Amino acid sequence: MSTHWVPLQSIPAGGSAYRIADQVFWQGLVDEFALRLRIADPIEAYVRVFPREEGVLFRGNIRGRVSLPCDRCSGDSMVSLNASFDNFEPFPCERPPVKATGMRPSQENAPEETDASVIRLAAHGKGIEINPSALAWEEFSLALPLKPLCSRDCKGLCPFCGCDRNTDDCSCGAGRADPRLSVLQGLVIHKK
Ligand SMILES: [Zn+2]
Ligand SMILES: [Zn+2]
Repeated sequence: MSTHWVPLQSIPAGGSAYRIADQVFWQGLVDEFALRLRIADPIEAYVRVFPREEGVLFRGNIRGRVSLPCDRCSGDSMVSLNASFDNFEPFPCERPPVKATGMRPSQENAPEETDASVIRLAAHGKGIEINPSALAWEEFSLALPLKPLCSRDCKGLCPFCGCDRNTDDCSCGAGRADPRLSVLQGLVIHKK
């Protein structure tokens, strides 16, 4: 993960804006997290940062175009990204979190969850640091579809021979039940 940490005190009360459009940064993270995607059009994030009393507000958007494997046939699925976000990150607590003991901290002492890759205490008690590019990466990951499709009516792969039913014709399905449905064979429905 990149280490573009910015001291919070360097940000004016009116906020600062960051543009994260370095494709080496984006590609580096795609590789680091071994994501199966190809950047088709440059990815660009705008992050505006507003210091608040209890934390930091991050607002912005992500644009770009990526190619992902289709959920049904693994072919190319082009996805245009255009996502806005509006995230509040509370300040991390001064004390280090208590090590897991299998017990949840009581509600009273439990601080709001802090995203340590985005906001942290600076070393040697020098205030708070934030990482706008880490936030941009998180928002990018969230903007990706869970089940991308190459087309809305993609026919997927044949469950018998594995051919791509969008481009190949096979006859193995004829007269045979889909093996994925075999669990239903012998199922008798009783009418009342
Ligand atoms: Zn497909
Ligand atoms: Zn087949």
